[in-house]
Amino acid sequence: MSVKDSFLTKQDEDAIVAAIQEAEKNTSGEIRVHIEAHTEESHYKHAEKVFQQLQMHQTKQRNGVLIYIATQDHKFVILGDEGINKMVSSDFWNATKNLMQDYFRKGNFKEGIVQGILMIGKQLKEFFPYQEGDQDELPNEISKSE
Ligand code: CA
Ligand code: CA
Repeated sequence: MSVKDSFLTKQDEDAIVAAIQEAEKNTSGEIRVHIEAHTEESHYKHAEKVFQQLQMHQTKQRNGVLIYIATQDHKFVILGDEGINKMVSSDFWNATKNLMQDYFRKGNFKEGIVQGILMIGKQLKEFFPYQEGDQDELPNEISKSE
């Protein structure tokens, strides 16, 4: 069993998908979670590549947010698209990062990710409120790679 497989149980994954659905009731923004074990690249640069690979730059308002996690490296990145970055300062995600880190340090990965997602939904609500007839532009499933 790889680190990645043992990182979250099926139930944990279901809870994370449910959190994304919940968060996206607050905002037109689209949240995705990508998990892998390890990358040789800088985690931020690599998260940007994953963002492209997942076609996350294709949302109408450019308001996708990626939570990228490298389990073996004990690193994670929160990356917002340019529609968000235009409106907020670069430390916009810091409180969310800190919240997630607190849970991760205690080994509670599922709860850290869930709480992070819910907080991102609330933060985005101000700039990109949910509107009637909103489209789910990006799948809520967790994506993974080797
Ligand atoms: Ca949406
Ligand atoms: Ca979605």
